[in-house]
Amino acid sequence: MKRSKAWGVLGVAVGAALGWMVAVPAWAEDELVVYTARKEHMIKPLFDAYTAKTGVKIQFLSDNAEPLLMKLQTEGSSTPADLLMTVDAGNLWRAAKEGVLAPIESAVLEKNVAPHLRDPGKQWFALSQRARVMVYATDRVKPEPLKDYADLADPKWKGKLCLRSSKKIYNQSLVALLIDQHGEAKTETMVQGWVTNLAEPPAADDTKVMEAIAAGQCDVGVVNTYYYGLLMDKKPNLKLALHFPPNGGTHLNISGAGVTKHAPHPAEAIKLLEWLTTPEAQRMFADLNFEYPVNPAAPMNDKVKSWGTPSGDQRNMSLAGELQEKAVKLMDRAGYK
Ligand code: FE
Repeated sequence: MKRSKAWGVLGVAVGAALGWMVAVPAWAEDELVVYTARKEHMIKPLFDAYTAKTGVKIQFLSDNAEPLLMKLQTEGSSTPADLLMTVDAGNLWRAAKEGVLAPIESAVLEKNVAPHLRDPGKQWFALSQRARVMVYATDRVKPEPLKDYADLADPKWKGKLCLRSSKKIYNQSLVALLIDQHGEAKTETMVQGWVTNLAEPPAADDTKVMEAIAAGQCDVGVVNTYYYGLLMDKKPNLKLALHFPPNGGTHLNISGAGVTKHAPHPAEAIKLLEWLTTPEAQRMFADLNFEYPVNPAAPMNDKVKSWGTPSGDQRNMSLAGELQEKAVKLMDRAGYK
């Protein structure tokens, strides 16, 4: 093990000097360290299961993707982190582009994760899929008029649409993939149509979009399906349902991970990644946060299955990163706040 025992103390000192918002634990030198933008309730059960199975201990630091990426850049070769785990292909693409990850050679990962769900440069692999789809008020909207994201620009939805802020990477990636599909000009007209149809200013999060629909402030919106699952678990009587754009039109994004460029334990880190793509771990992902497996051999959560069938396409998810800047500028021009 390469890591110095003094790292923990040094980490606290450097952390204090840089004003990190989180306490830096004293990393044990023989434990895998994961920097993760995934919430603790989501990943701790997975890590605990891996430790029970292999005896390999895992420490993790949870924060948003942006600060974790900055931290990896600041730490450089002295990082204690073996893995970076985050959500949204746009974030994974950026991590690869900024040089904090290393390519992974793994036949297991290449077998378990379809080509469009991994970096062509092998620096990150998807661990779960998440669908961003329409949610609608079942007491005011019949499913038939719901079609796809482009249709939300139709005047029939004037004053009836609620959207989350364009600042969220989920919407940036959605628009990036729409640019790839329709071209910039058509996508800009589409996004202008969305803005025209808004019932109220964009919401801070997906749950607020659904609450606004349930309260009658609007009829239709766009959310990640796991937020629907979490909300309906708490309030099962809400008159809300999901609609999945058909014919390959469902926007499926990913969560994923990569081994860091200066990982102290790269071989062990790859083993953990491989395990996370096995049906056993994929099932946990599906159950813990209502996500979709990346490994086709893994079963889908029954509740998730009951919401409908996502119909995605095979375009490589790195497009979300490559076209992100264009998407952000386009949404700005279209007046989508
Ligand atoms: Fe989320």
